Amino acid sequence: MKIYNTLTKQKEEFVPIREGKVSMYVCGPTVYNYIHIGNARPMIMFDTVRRYFEYKGYDVNYVSNFTDVDDKIIKKANEEGVSAEEISKRYIEETKKDMEALHVRPASVHPLATQEIDGMIQMIETLIDKGFAYPVSDGTVYFAVRKFGEYGKLSHKDIDDLEGGHRNINVAGDEKRDPLDFVLWKPKKDGEPYWESPWCQGRPGWHIECSVMSKRYLGDTIDIHAGGEDLIFPHHENEIAQSEAANGAEFAHYWMHNGFLNIDNKKMSKSLGNFFTVRDIQEKYDLQVLRFFMLSAHYRSPLNFSAELMASAKSGLERIRTAGDRLLELKEQASGQLTEEEQNLLQGAAEYIKKFEAAMEDDFNTADAVSAIFELVKYANTHVTDQSSKELVEKIYQMMQNLMNILGVDLTTEEDDLDAHVQEMIAKRQQARKDKDFALADQIRDQLLAEGIQLLDTREGVKWKKV
Ligand SMILES: [Zn+2]
Repeated sequence: MKIYNTLTKQKEEFVPIREGKVSMYVCGPTVYNYIHIGNARPMIMFDTVRRYFEYKGYDVNYVSNFTDVDDKIIKKANEEGVSAEEISKRYIEETKKDMEALHVRPASVHPLATQEIDGMIQMIETLIDKGFAYPVSDGTVYFAVRKFGEYGKLSHKDIDDLEGGHRNINVAGDEKRDPLDFVLWKPKKDGEPYWESPWCQGRPGWHIECSVMSKRYLGDTIDIHAGGEDLIFPHHENEIAQSEAANGAEFAHYWMHNGFLNIDNKKMSKSLGNFFTVRDIQEKYDLQVLRFFMLSAHYRSPLNFSAELMASAKSGLERIRTAGDRLLELKEQASGQLTEEEQNLLQGAAEYIKKFEAAMEDDFNTADAVSAIFELVKYANTHVTDQSSKELVEKIYQMMQNLMNILGVDLTTEEDDLDAHVQEMIAKRQQARKDKDFALADQIRDQLLAEGIQLLDTREGVKWKKV
């Protein structure tokens, strides 16, 4: 499997630190409002990366934070006359709803910056002890960029060019030693949330959060660190400087970044009136279409969002789903096992799975992977007929479903409805059991069985299957 690594500017073979395991950190949103569709792109893309690793049998430890202390959160809280905590809690909940609607699975851990302050203070102390950071008289702590010899290695910037750009920013009398130095800890202002620290009552800078949360949940060195390309500089560059200076170990082996999202070929901005939250999009489109649309492009390319392109994604997805529905219908009336001829047909279909996998293993080229699904659809439409055996129909359907699952897009909407119905019945049955109304519990089980659904009581809870 090859991954384009921003650090080396080339595709590299993926070699995990521990066999069969992937540790992955994806920078999450600052929670002061509903997420916009630009935020949705890395969520969808890296969720798909995770799904593919899991499909290949890897055990993925996927960590993605919520930045819940920040100037924007405080500003919003002041505007509404509520606490910063109330704002961040509200928008974490709303973001989780959007993620669910986008089929972005919850991370293994979603750490909150405000819950990790102790770790941040510890790392800052280590950086001061090692000579990579210094406090000034008002209690601000800065990272001394020039002390970290490899600064600029991710963004491929020359530190002296950066210095030139910053020359005029340094104000007279500032105790900051170098204009490039960035904040690790800053003193509180009136009305702001703050924490005690050895330097002053204050709060952490943004960059230190991710270094600390990544270390705590994944260790000093991780396999993949990911985010939008706007984070390469300074955020990820600063994360590398902090983590590598403090831990004395390489921070991440692979750095993945997704490209920008434009609206009608223009940068999305509130002032241009082309700013869309995921909620705005949800009013007009099925979010599965948005997900499918985003994955129809290569993640490193800029992605242009427009009504026309969404319409074409919608009709593309419909084409796939129509093929899926057709197979489900054929399955109802078909019977029998694979014939010899069908064995060959199945092998022919498996070629598209190989194509899909080859695309994904070439730096997660979801655009080509989607093309492979279209080819499989065409193949199924041509070769699976009302003469086909039940086994063939089922196997081809399963192939399509497996590939769509990797993309996080449902092959049929029917399956969803059915699952929702069954889950509701399971919940009713659980309640009946709790109430010791075993007659009702049995009645619900029998009713589902009559509908062709068998319930299985397993250690992980109640599962169901079609019979
Ligand atoms: Zn980050």
